[in-house]
Amino acid sequence: MIIVLRAHTSDADRDHIVEKIHAMGLQSMVSQGVERTIIGVIGEEDLERMQPFEVMAGVEKVIPVLAPYKLVSREFKPGDSLIKVGREVIGAKRVMVMAGPCAIESLEGLREIAAAVKQAGATILRGGAFKPRTSPYSFQGLGEAGLKIMKQVGAEFGLTTVTEVIDPRDLELVSRYVDMIQIGARNMQNFNLLKEVGICKKPVLLKRGMMSTIKELLMSAEYILKEGNFDVVLCERGIRTFEDYTRNTLDINAIPAIKKLSHLPVVVDPSHGTGKWGLVIPVSRAAVAAGCDGLLVEVHTRPEEAVSDGIQSLNAENFRRLMDELRPVAAAVGREI
Ligand code: PEP
Ligand code: MN
Repeated sequence: MIIVLRAHTSDADRDHIVEKIHAMGLQSMVSQGVERTIIGVIGEEDLERMQPFEVMAGVEKVIPVLAPYKLVSREFKPGDSLIKVGREVIGAKRVMVMAGPCAIESLEGLREIAAAVKQAGATILRGGAFKPRTSPYSFQGLGEAGLKIMKQVGAEFGLTTVTEVIDPRDLELVSRYVDMIQIGARNMQNFNLLKEVGICKKPVLLKRGMMSTIKELLMSAEYILKEGNFDVVLCERGIRTFEDYTRNTLDINAIPAIKKLSHLPVVVDPSHGTGKWGLVIPVSRAAVAAGCDGLLVEVHTRPEEAVSDGIQSLNAENFRRLMDELRPVAAAVGREI
């Protein structure tokens, strides 16, 4: 439930309400706005438990949150969340484009890709150092050596950086090198990993599991916010359907649906969403038209030589074309790129 306090409620009254919440075995999350203070109450709720709060001093109203996720819901926070990541903000007017290789392969290679995506207008550099591969014999990523390359290239080109963590034991290490932590589709319900990124102070890019519903994605985000980390960006990256022409089916519905249900920004990954580089540009246009707050695009200067996902990676020229084609679409929906 959400407890909305009257304007000018005293600190003592507010603290008393918080004590009562804790005495009932529930958790509280106080959000102090300029005009209003609201208290999110976390835990199983029923109407009977809400009643005592309705008569407490300072309480204007008590609103039940019917959705199973609380902190991520629009009811908890009606306005859009703006997430600061490095020197960028996700969720504002500008559609943030995060681009880079599937995996970090070498210093020179990443430099070349960073130069291309920066020149075309991307602001965040992506690239995996720990890769979750279907086969244990496939390239698993450069590990810490890759993180060092990412940090160096990000600094050289003035690009904010994002990379995936697949093991809670690597979180501290990865946090030292990049601006944003990615939780991949395969780990969306790795609840221990979610709790750890919730405790950590870095912004999180949470990708939707390939067989997860929108509700399950929001419940996973709730794990992170519940630990105190509200800097979460959600990512639609395609789900498995009976269609096998494409690698996944990008769920365009998820963009407006999540924006209705949650205050968190939504970005779209058209690369894993389609699995085919030739589909990335049109599908990206659709995602921007549908209201996404950003894109996560795989780019490689030599896709034919990429160690992973070359088939869905745009080369430098096609990435530039993507950016050019997105600008009028963004403008048509009141955004910019
Ligand atoms: C990735 O972004 O590199 C990745 C592995 O994506 P996903 O987790 O969506 O499969
Ligand atoms: Mn990939």
